[in-house]
Amino acid sequence: MIYDVAIVGAGAAGLMTAIRAAQGGLRVLLLEGQQKPGAKILMSGGNRCNVTNRSVSEKDFNSEKIIYVRHILKSFGNTDTIKFFKDLGVELIPEFTGKYFPSTNSGKTILNALLNKVESEGVTLLCDYKVKALASHINGFQVKGDQFHFEAKNIVLTTGGLSYPSTGSDGMGYRLAQSFGHSMVETVPALTPLTTDDKDLKSLSGITLEAQLTLLVDGKKHFSCRGSFLFTHFGYSGPAALNISRHWTKAQGPKQIIANFIVDHDEASLQKYLSELQQKSARRSLMNVLTELMPQRLADIIFRKTRIDSSMTMNQLSRESRQILIKRCVQYPLDVTGVLGFSKAEVTAGGIDLAEINPKTLESRLVSGLFFAGEILDVDGRIGGYNFQWAWASGNAVAQALIKKQRSQYEQKDHQNG
Ligand SMILES: Cc1cc2nc3c(=O)[nH]c(=O)nc-3n(C[C@H](O)[C@H](O)[C@H](O)COP(=O)(O)OP(=O)(O)OC[C@H]3O[C@@H](n4cnc5c(N)ncnc54)[C@H](O)[C@@H]3O)c2cc1C
Repeated sequence: MIYDVAIVGAGAAGLMTAIRAAQGGLRVLLLEGQQKPGAKILMSGGNRCNVTNRSVSEKDFNSEKIIYVRHILKSFGNTDTIKFFKDLGVELIPEFTGKYFPSTNSGKTILNALLNKVESEGVTLLCDYKVKALASHINGFQVKGDQFHFEAKNIVLTTGGLSYPSTGSDGMGYRLAQSFGHSMVETVPALTPLTTDDKDLKSLSGITLEAQLTLLVDGKKHFSCRGSFLFTHFGYSGPAALNISRHWTKAQGPKQIIANFIVDHDEASLQKYLSELQQKSARRSLMNVLTELMPQRLADIIFRKTRIDSSMTMNQLSRESRQILIKRCVQYPLDVTGVLGFSKAEVTAGGIDLAEINPKTLESRLVSGLFFAGEILDVDGRIGGYNFQWAWASGNAVAQALIKKQRSQYEQKDHQNG
């Protein structure tokens, strides 16, 4: 049996590609190296699976070829995702943050719906089938593992990247692509917590607040993001820390992350606010003022680090001390020693270089019939359902390209046969 397409990896991108290709009438083989497919779908979004977002554009992603992301997102956007899952019987509900989750609040609902559809569309899904080599063949490709080999006219690599390798994405997909001459954009962990040696900040473990983080490289602003920020026993987590992590790792040169812990103020507005308070509420204590703006334990540390007596009243605060205090609150220089790495990264930054891939079909420019979708490519999104949106959209784009290709081949044959 020669399959029309063999898809390597049954995560979000592989399952989507398989369903859409089978819906278009293709004979689909889906090979998964683990005993069970879709491990990341189950663990994502705190097991609730943040499937997509209310607002999606290429601005939510990083890639050396961001124009590709725009093309693919245009062909299958968030409303297409919502409709796709509705057709599978799953209602997606938006949160106030814009994140969409299944109404059951369980990733299991998403995975089960995809697996039911895979089965009903007649996809051959084989688990515990780890693909170790690919070779060109007279009929297209040969797909090989330790105990098996299959033939297929086309191959789709949906093996993921290097994040959470315990789920099966261990970088094998990159090696398969490289065996056909494909190049890589350097991979680094993305959406991973930051580590610190600062004992004071580690002692705040468990405290969450809204923060604005800014990455300075060579003293210049390189990246900035705002969001929930969590102190942990090893460093910093929460969306703001996760979103900045890939930029911190990739930055070349002297780098520093500064945190604004009073996001409604910048230096100038906090200056104004405090000088007004000095006039209106001269006898209020500094601690009383600061704890209105941030958690008390963080305020304690700020007073300790700036050596300003928190029991002083506003009218006792000198101009110079006020300036020092303001700087610490809105430009706190975070001690960052590194990131937790791929074992705890939600995604991989970098991957297969899009320059060698057709932007509309995601077919290799080097090898006809070789396609890519999902995290294996040099695309990573920020927190908020964007990485799944990329998996659904790129999987759909590949499936549509395969269907079109097959149709035009049949039409050509019909034409030749008169
Ligand atoms: C803890 C965590 C939480 C996350 N939460 C969210 C979230 O809420 N929203 C969001 O948008 N994104 C989230 N993500 C990111 C998202 O899960 C991934 O971006 C997405 O799953 C990538 O899909 P993929 O199909 O490309 O790769 P993967 O999901 O990694 O799937 C790849 C599959 O290929 C298989 N495979 C690999 N090599 C081979 C081989 N040689 N042969 C056969 N099979 C192979 C693997 O076993 C795996 O099943 C989260 C990630 C993690 C780790």
